[in-house]
Amino acid sequence: MRRGIAAIAGSRIVGAERVKCSRRPILIQPKGAALARRLVGRTIDDVGRVGKRVVLRLDSGDRLIFEPRMTGLVLVADPPTTEHLRFRLDLAGGPIECIWYWDRRGLGSVRLLTDKDFAEKLGNNSLGPDALALAADDLKARLSASRRAIKVALLDQRAIAGIGNLYASEILHLAAVHPAKRCDKLTIAQWQAIHQHMLEVLNLAIQHEGSTLSDGTYRNALNKAGGYQNHHRVYDRAGEVCPSCGQKEIVRIVQAQRATFYCPHCQAARRR
Ligand SMILES: [Zn+2]
Repeated sequence: MRRGIAAIAGSRIVGAERVKCSRRPILIQPKGAALARRLVGRTIDDVGRVGKRVVLRLDSGDRLIFEPRMTGLVLVADPPTTEHLRFRLDLAGGPIECIWYWDRRGLGSVRLLTDKDFAEKLGNNSLGPDALALAADDLKARLSASRRAIKVALLDQRAIAGIGNLYASEILHLAAVHPAKRCDKLTIAQWQAIHQHMLEVLNLAIQHEGSTLSDGTYRNALNKAGGYQNHHRVYDRAGEVCPSCGQKEIVRIVQAQRATFYCPHCQAARRR
């Protein structure tokens, strides 16, 4: 998502508008005219990412944050539908004239934060370090005292930022760790395996521009499907034979209201 709009760095914002939408309204901050007033005329100095958010840093020091949650998209063109468009940014001085924020279910948000609010709301006290910047020792240090199930802990953005639900299942399958295993019961070798496969899964998913599941929701900035779903080993594959062992079928369970997929053979609870 970030790479898809990276070319807007250096562009000037010439318009910012909430799009009239009959669907459940999303969170857009600040309310009223203040948003456009603080955006229009500003230059985008940087297009970054913090965990699962795209962050535009402006020359005023403000940050414009797109948080897509379940069904949000950042698009440069060709929205999948017009009725779910939520926000538009008009640009000048660069190759892209307009970006959209689109959200079908409307759980995502668009927020403009000052430097200070950004540090408070998305700084180290509220959000963990990015998963891709985390050393193996740090991963263990941050989670190993917890009694929570490892799958649930990996999704805790305050501990580590950036791991989405489907990727947690993929990481644990490759690491051969049962998703319900308590963090404080994992061995050093298991932490190392989780760390190694966390980097592997996230980097490959980024390379393939994310996962577009059967509902077709996730699209890149050009409204094209991602490719990582073709690499899923367990996610959404309940009942299929495990690609690692070829012996057991993938099982679906629910942990903290989120679906988890694993192989009872490769990720056996007791043996591991
Ligand atoms: Zn297996």
